Amino acid sequence: MRNTTSRGILERLAQGVVLGAEGYVFELERRGYIKAGPYVPEVVLDFPDAVKELHREFMRAGSEVIVALTYYAHREKLKDVGRQNDLEELNRRAVRLANEVAREGDALVAGDICNTWAYDPQNAKETSIIVRAMYEEQLTWAVEEGIDFVIAETNDYLGEALIALEVIKELKLPAMVTLASVQHNATRDGYDYVEACKILADHGADIVGLNCDRGPATMLPIIEKICATVSCYVAAQPVPYKTSALAPTFESLCTPDGEQAFPIMLEPFLCNRFEMAAFARKAQALGVKYIGICCGGAPHHVRAMAEALGRTTSASKYSPAMELHPMLGAQVDDRDKEFLADWKS
Ligand SMILES: [Zn+2]
Repeated sequence: MRNTTSRGILERLAQGVVLGAEGYVFELERRGYIKAGPYVPEVVLDFPDAVKELHREFMRAGSEVIVALTYYAHREKLKDVGRQNDLEELNRRAVRLANEVAREGDALVAGDICNTWAYDPQNAKETSIIVRAMYEEQLTWAVEEGIDFVIAETNDYLGEALIALEVIKELKLPAMVTLASVQHNATRDGYDYVEACKILADHGADIVGLNCDRGPATMLPIIEKICATVSCYVAAQPVPYKTSALAPTFESLCTPDGEQAFPIMLEPFLCNRFEMAAFARKAQALGVKYIGICCGGAPHHVRAMAEALGRTTSASKYSPAMELHPMLGAQVDDRDKEFLADWKS
């Protein structure tokens, strides 16, 4: 069934920043519903209520877009876990779940396609046919179930992103295409990220930018250049991790023992809500119009980002009120002051 909202994505973007939220796969893995490693969203079929609950939490926290959990729900990945026969049902159900929750608020529903691991720039002609067929089948089901626009995300290759864009445009839907930025400066098929975004914009993408891999500190400098180069809307959906010049992506973060922290030992590097709020403000100042979060993101981050953008969300009713804390509040009596001294020693 078609989700009906008062305004589509392009109308909303024309009026200001749209806040999105992703990171479903990481969060549902932490909650015990997705297996780390393959990261296939079997949860859509096995525990649909868990998916709906997370959609709802992100929406309450201020996300205006419910992204159908079809990340890695493509033919190649389902084969890896022996569930290729569930392909269509999983894709359809994911969009249905997103619509059910979006109807509880005024959120848009985005179809989602992603990196396939099937594209090979050395063999672009042959692999493009395979990738295109995968995107076509996923998006045909998504359109039948009802979506407002499509997010093609975590694209390692410009070539693959362009196939996604072509398929979305054939369906006459608004297209948001964002690149992964694991490499230092360029996509895996050798295009500078800024140049790649320009090419996507020139090919008709409505929104271009980056998602995943980089935290705010190392994503924003590239985003700034993208904003200065393209005339379409720009999206920034970083991971909420403290990446730096030495470790610019979350894949490159290491524990003190020198072990790779990605993907399931990243907690010590997690950004707090204030850092993600600061990111939202900086992105807005740069002119980013689709501000979001990727792997590692949780509802408390999204609420802080929404509030940093001047919004009050359903979850804001329970936003921190430290002045009411028995020890941290203003009305701490003498007895508690002594107790408090122990906290600080
Ligand atoms: Zn991600």
